[in-house]
Amino acid sequence: MTKLSDLGPPIKGTRHGGEQTNEVEHFYVCRTCGQSVDRRDLRQVIWHERPDHKPLEQDS
Ligand SMILES: [Zn+2]
Repeated sequence: MTKLSDLGPPIKGTRHGGEQTNEVEHFYVCRTCGQSVDRRDLRQVIWHERPDHKPLEQDS
């Protein structure tokens, strides 16, 4: 299983409309693997856009 940290350092995306305060709004569920994806981290977003991928092992 690929670790999140294997993809390199965090890549922080920017959002229009300023900072969100509700943490839940940063996450969506990937339709391919069912894992929660933090849309603020482009490593995760890019990974989960691959057509055939496995869930990422989260850093703890
Ligand atoms: Zn996924």
